[in-house]
Amino acid sequence: MAKKDRLQLVRVAVPIPSNQAFLYAVPEDQLSGVRAGVRVLVPFGPRTHVGLVLGEASSVPDQAKIREILQVLDASPLLSPQLIELGDWLSRYYMAPVGEAFRVMFPPGIFSRRAGQKKSREALWPTRKRRMITQAFAGEDRELTPRQRQVLDEICALRLPVSLTDAVKRTRSSTSLLQRLSALGVLRVEEVELYRSPWRDTSGGPAEVRKHPLTTGQKRIFELIKKKLETSGFHSILIHGITGSGKTEIYLNSIEATLERGRSALVLVPEIGLTPQVSNQFKSWFGDRVAILHSSLSAGERFDEWRRIRAGKARVVIGTRSAVFAPLHNLGAIIVDEEHDSAYKQDETPRYNARDVALKRAQQEGALVILGSATPQLETYHHAQQGGRTRYESLHSRVGKRALPTVHIVDMRVEFQKHGGEKLCSDPLADGIRKRLEKQQQILMLLNRRGYASALLCRSCGHTESCHNCSVTLTYHQDRRRLSCHYCGYSKALPMHCPDCNKQYLHYLGMGTEQVEEKLQALFPQARIDRLDRDSTRRKGSLQSILQNFHSRETDILVGTQMVAKGHDFPGVTLVGVLAADQGLRLADFRAAEKTFQLLTQVAGRAGRGDHPGEVIIQTYFPNHYSLKHARMQDYESFYEREIRFRRRFRYPPFTALANLVIRGTRENKTQDIAEDLARSLVEIRNTLSDTRRLRILGPAPAAVFRVKGEYRFQVLLKTTSRKELNQVVAKALAKLPSSHRKRVIVDVDPVNLL
Ligand code: ADP
Ligand code: ZN
Repeated sequence: MAKKDRLQLVRVAVPIPSNQAFLYAVPEDQLSGVRAGVRVLVPFGPRTHVGLVLGEASSVPDQAKIREILQVLDASPLLSPQLIELGDWLSRYYMAPVGEAFRVMFPPGIFSRRAGQKKSREALWPTRKRRMITQAFAGEDRELTPRQRQVLDEICALRLPVSLTDAVKRTRSSTSLLQRLSALGVLRVEEVELYRSPWRDTSGGPAEVRKHPLTTGQKRIFELIKKKLETSGFHSILIHGITGSGKTEIYLNSIEATLERGRSALVLVPEIGLTPQVSNQFKSWFGDRVAILHSSLSAGERFDEWRRIRAGKARVVIGTRSAVFAPLHNLGAIIVDEEHDSAYKQDETPRYNARDVALKRAQQEGALVILGSATPQLETYHHAQQGGRTRYESLHSRVGKRALPTVHIVDMRVEFQKHGGEKLCSDPLADGIRKRLEKQQQILMLLNRRGYASALLCRSCGHTESCHNCSVTLTYHQDRRRLSCHYCGYSKALPMHCPDCNKQYLHYLGMGTEQVEEKLQALFPQARIDRLDRDSTRRKGSLQSILQNFHSRETDILVGTQMVAKGHDFPGVTLVGVLAADQGLRLADFRAAEKTFQLLTQVAGRAGRGDHPGEVIIQTYFPNHYSLKHARMQDYESFYEREIRFRRRFRYPPFTALANLVIRGTRENKTQDIAEDLARSLVEIRNTLSDTRRLRILGPAPAAVFRVKGEYRFQVLLKTTSRKELNQVVAKALAKLPSSHRKRVIVDVDPVNLL
C-alpha cells in the first residue's frame, strides 16, 4: 500500500454512549492493516473494546495522551466509505452516540467484547458451526474391534454429512467411540459452518412467478422509473396509489430494471411476518439473488444473509427498517413500501426513521428512491406537492377495475338512544355479518386495543387496578386470567374481590379484542372466529397459522388490532367492521387525526379485493370528525387540506422540525430538577441566536404516561424552522449537563410518538 494511504491517527467508533468518536494511534507494525471500515481492538479506560475505524483524524488535538490500537480484527473493511458517511450522518442528525449509530448498521454481535477475545479471525464472526461427519471409509485395512466395525458400517449407510450428535443417536454408540474412529482415520469429522436459510419458515414457500401485463397507470410510472434509472444521480418518487392499485407490481418491475443495469436494489417493508406473500413474490421473481433481513431471524441467519449481501451474492435485499443499512454495492434503487408506517421509526437509540435514512443514503450513493403508500405521511405528500425533490405520481384505480369499498359510518350515539346499554355490533354491522356468513364470505373486525378489558373498576369504591411501576391501569387478559401492564410487563392474578374495599363489584372497562372475539362468538355461534393481535401471535408459528387459516377460508371472521389493517390481500373479505374508530383521536398527539385516517383507510382497503365488492362499517361516537369523514370517502386530498391547516397554525411538521427530549429518573424531584436545568440552558442558548423566534421550547412537562418501569418522565418539546440550529442548541445544552444527568436524557428527533 502506498505510503500516503497509511493512517497514522484514526477516529474510532467505540460502542459506548458518547457523542463522539475517539482518536487512536496506529502502531508501526499495524500500518498496513488499519483502514476505514475495519474493526479494531482498542484500550478504553481500564478495559478493551471492539471499535470501528471511521477514517483518518483530520486534526490532532494538543491535549490528551493518545493510546494505540491493540489489534486489527478484519482483513477487509466491513463498511464502504459511503456507509461510514451514513453512520456519521445518523449520529449527527439523530444526536445519537457514534458507537450506537454504527452498531445498528450491523447484524448483532459484531462489537461484542467476545469478538475481541477470540484468537482466530473466523471466530470473530458469530457463525454457527457444528461438528459433522463428512466422510466415512469402510476401513479396509484397519484393525477394528467388532463393535467399532459395526458402528462404522452403520455410519457408512447414513447419508453424509451427519452431525456427531445425530450419529451417536442413530448408531446408539458414544461420542468417544466416534472420536476413536476419527483418530483411526476411518471417519472424517469437521467443523462445518451451517448456512441457515431464513426462507424455510415463510408460509407456503415461494409462490409461482406471476408476471402481469402492466395496467396503463402502472406502465406510465414504470416508464418514468426506467428513465430515472438511466440518468444517474439521486431521484425520488412518491407513488400515491390507493389500496389494491398494484404498487407491488411496479416495485418488482423496477427492481428487475435496476438489476439489468448492473445495480442492486433494496426493498423496505414495515413488517415481514404479517404479509409473507410480499416477500415470497420477491423471492419467486429473483430467486437466490434475494436476501431477507428482519429481527425475527436468528443471529446466525441474519449474519449469513448480511455476509451474502456484502460478498455481492445477493443483489436484492428485502427487509424491515435496519435493512436500510444493508451493505449492497452499487445501489441503484431503494423502495420504501407503506412509507407512512410508524414501524420505520426505531423506538430506541438511535431513534432513526428508515424512510429518511433511505433518502439520505440514496443521495449519497446516487440512487433512486421509490416511496409507496395509499396514505402518505403528511410531510412526504407536502414535500412532493411543493415541487420539492420528490416527484409525485398517483394511481387512482384498483387493478381489474375493482371498485373501492363503500363505507358507512354508524353513529353509536343514535344506536345507544335506540337500544340503551353497551352493544358490540350496531344493527347494520350485525346484519352485514349475518349476510356475509350466509354467503360464505369473510369478515375482518378491527378494534385497536388488545386484551379483554383495558381496566378493572370496582363499582363500589371506584378503585382501579394500576401498575406498580407505571402510571397506567392494568389490562385484563382472559387467556392468562391475569392483569398485566403493557409498558413494563408486570402482571398479577385476577382478584376476586376489590383489593381496596374487598367487595365483589368488579367491572370490566374498555373492551379489547379478546372480549370482541368472545361476544361475537356468542352472537354468531356457527361462525369460525379467530384473533390476530400481539397476544395471539406470541407463540412461534401462530402468526403464520392464523393468516393461513384465514387465507384458506377456514376462518370466517378475523378479529384484530391494527395488525389486520396492514397490506394483506385476502380476496374473500367483503366486509370490514371497525369498532370504536375514534379511540385514537382522544390521544394527546398531534398526529392523532393522521394516524386515525391512515388506519381507517388502510383497513377499508382490505375489503373487496376479490370478485365481490366490499363494504366497510365504521362504528363511532364521533361521526363528524374530519378524519372519519374523509376516510369514509377515501379522500386523501381533502383530509390533507384540512390537516395541513392545523399543522401550519400550530407550527407542527412539515412547517417545523421537532425534537422531543425525555428526562427520566427514579426520583421525581431530582428528575424534575434535571429537566428544568436542561430547559433553562436550552432557553439561554436559544436567546443567543440571531432570531430567537425560530426555535420554540415547550416544557418541561410531565410526559403523558408519567411513570414507566419505575421511572418518572418529563419532556421538553422543541419546535424549529431551522434544523441546524436545533441540533446545535441541543448539543450545547446537553454538553452543559454533568454526564450523570446527560445519561437521563433521551433525544428523539422527528418523534412519531409523543406519548
Ligand atoms: P397495492 O400494494 O397497491 O395495495 P397490490 O400490489 O397488492 O396492490 O395489487 C393488488 C392485486 O392486484 C394483487 O393481487 C396483484 O397480484 C394484482 N395485480 C397487480 N398488478 C396487476 C396487473 N397489472 N394485472 C393483473 N393483476 C395485477
Ligand atoms: Zn408497568
